Amino acid sequence: MQLYNLKDNNERVCFSQAIRQGLGRWQGLFFPLELPSFDADEIDTLLAMDFVTRSSKIMEAFVGDEIGSERLHKRVEAAFTFPAPVVQVEDDIACLELFHGPTLAFKDFGGRFMAQMLAEVAGDKPVTILTATSGDTGAAVAHAFYGLKNVRVVILYPKGKISSLQEKLFCTLGGNVFTVAIEGDFDACQALVKQAFDDRSLREGLHLNSANSINISRLLAQICYYFEAVAQLPKEKRQQLVISVPSGNFGNLTAGLLAKAIGLPVKRFIAATNVNDTVPRFLSSGEWKPNSTQATLSNAMDVSQPNNWPRVEELFRRQHWSLSELGFATVNDETTKQTMKALANIGHVIEPHAAVAYRALRDQLQPDEFGLFLGTAHPAKFQESVESILERELPLPDELAEREMLPLLSYSMAADFDKLSHFLITIPH
Ligand SMILES: *Cc1c(COP(=O)(O)O)cnc(C)c1O
Repeated sequence: MQLYNLKDNNERVCFSQAIRQGLGRWQGLFFPLELPSFDADEIDTLLAMDFVTRSSKIMEAFVGDEIGSERLHKRVEAAFTFPAPVVQVEDDIACLELFHGPTLAFKDFGGRFMAQMLAEVAGDKPVTILTATSGDTGAAVAHAFYGLKNVRVVILYPKGKISSLQEKLFCTLGGNVFTVAIEGDFDACQALVKQAFDDRSLREGLHLNSANSINISRLLAQICYYFEAVAQLPKEKRQQLVISVPSGNFGNLTAGLLAKAIGLPVKRFIAATNVNDTVPRFLSSGEWKPNSTQATLSNAMDVSQPNNWPRVEELFRRQHWSLSELGFATVNDETTKQTMKALANIGHVIEPHAAVAYRALRDQLQPDEFGLFLGTAHPAKFQESVESILERELPLPDELAEREMLPLLSYSMAADFDKLSHFLITIPH
């Protein structure tokens, strides 16, 4: 698969290179030069397959020229080790639960597939993944790369500034995962990572990679669960399907739109945000005016400059779709809480991100349509806020409860580049 840089269309790379590089020149995003397309019969055939087989076929249509089908199947099988069930919530609405992976959020799909692809294209050269986290992304990255040959992972996080559950989730793995509690805040961690990438000898000597959230391989992986959702729906519900996506950086929505572009029948999408609503305001007024970011209950969507948006615009342009067809909604914290309570009353406990998507869908769904919203995180992942809003206790899933008992394996370090660079050079492969 060839990809081009959205900021410099002359920069072309193959998939293997796009994975390793993450971003192109001028921090530009990579976008596929050509999209595969499946006709209605081929879609039906795909939808009849099991999740892993179907997903490897879809990935093959994108990257089959670089990675053989047998290897792809093995990689997909190793990445997608957990299901994505569709759960009926009301007569005309269902939830696609994307939170049954090791870190209880949909980012496990993209993270684990990216890890497998990086390991695949790295060949015999050992790679070092270096990343800073304020909590969640680090956990997804750590679990995704855990145990992979020729890859070691170094994760910096601000000491004492992440929740103890978050810390237990990724600092108890050991093996090829090295976690470092930095005496400083998240910005200090990010600055150290940046310094390491700016240091050419370190970058090239260790084959540093950031496993960035804008990596194209993540989006490809996420296309697969949209197909999985439709595969679980009865035929009559497939034709009038509306999908509501709780959005922050808009990667999830981009993947859904890509699924539609290659042939998946979806009538329309709704981009649902919290009060960090740069995109909804843009779609209604045509003006791109990011405000300063506000903290909300759905904090993984507290983003005012969504970094995947250029890909959404490019896809609409390429497909000759009009942005006026894209639904949108902004849901504030008060409405989010009310929505969570109302759903709990009919037997469905959801967390704030999913609640934003459900609310937008319920408000905009037409009588002849069927609605699907994405459950992006397990309610227990937002245990504190869910418990206080619903005024009831929410037990942790078994795996998480067990992990909470394990000892922390983190190193501790001053926010000092020389110390970090010494650490990176001396840790074992
Ligand atoms: C990351 C995240 C989102 C936002 O997804 P984007 O792809 O950034 O739009 C929504 N919900 C949860 C729980 C997340 O972790």
